Amino acid sequence: MVETGFESIYHLFEKPLKEPVKRAQKPTSRSRRLLEKVEPVRMPPDDMQSAKNEGRLTLRQMLDNSKKIFGRRHKQDRSIKITKISPYAGTRWIRFDATSTGEDNKMYNMTLIFYKVDFTDEKDAVHNRKVDITPKGGQQRIIRKWMAPINIAKNPAAAWCSCPDFQYRHEWYLQPKKSLAGGHKRRPYKRKTRTRPSVNPLKLPGVCKHLYQLALKLEASNPPFLVGPTGHGM
Ligand SMILES: [Zn+2]
Repeated sequence: MVETGFESIYHLFEKPLKEPVKRAQKPTSRSRRLLEKVEPVRMPPDDMQSAKNEGRLTLRQMLDNSKKIFGRRHKQDRSIKITKISPYAGTRWIRFDATSTGEDNKMYNMTLIFYKVDFTDEKDAVHNRKVDITPKGGQQRIIRKWMAPINIAKNPAAAWCSCPDFQYRHEWYLQPKKSLAGGHKRRPYKRKTRTRPSVNPLKLPGVCKHLYQLALKLEASNPPFLVGPTGHGM
């Protein structure tokens, strides 16, 4: 630094700053709301993902809960058909849509979503499951990605099924856990009778047998979409 000699006397020309004394104001709930509207909390995408997924259940947890409710195993249902696979590499989730025309010959639709999915552009030992992303509009070319298998006990998940069992037993308890899929709203279940015991007395967020069957199918695909300690039980 070049000495100019001015530094030592500079403070003489400067007036001390006098700021008007501000009275501390407690923000009212209205002003706080307004402030939040103006300044949305910005987070990097990764943090945003973990914040969104916080508290969300894994499919393993849902199946364990169902096991407590049903207390029995289900036979494999071969009528399960995966109708659509929608991967979203940017936001790192994948959605499976499927139908079941099982035992009672009624058709049910279901959705299973997994979050924090690991996608890459090139195939390698870990990312060995091919998925194709069809861009919106249909004019552009399909984007090929490779994904690591979903871990049933680690990847957060969300589920939905159109069957009455899912409606009555599960969706009410899945929504607060952010594990009700597909933009569905939980349908309130009004008990028609008080003489019979509740269908889910422990209030556990679980899944119906159709979703369990879909999980088995995802696990049986080659290479598997779903791995981990499935335990083959529910
Ligand atoms: Zn179902």
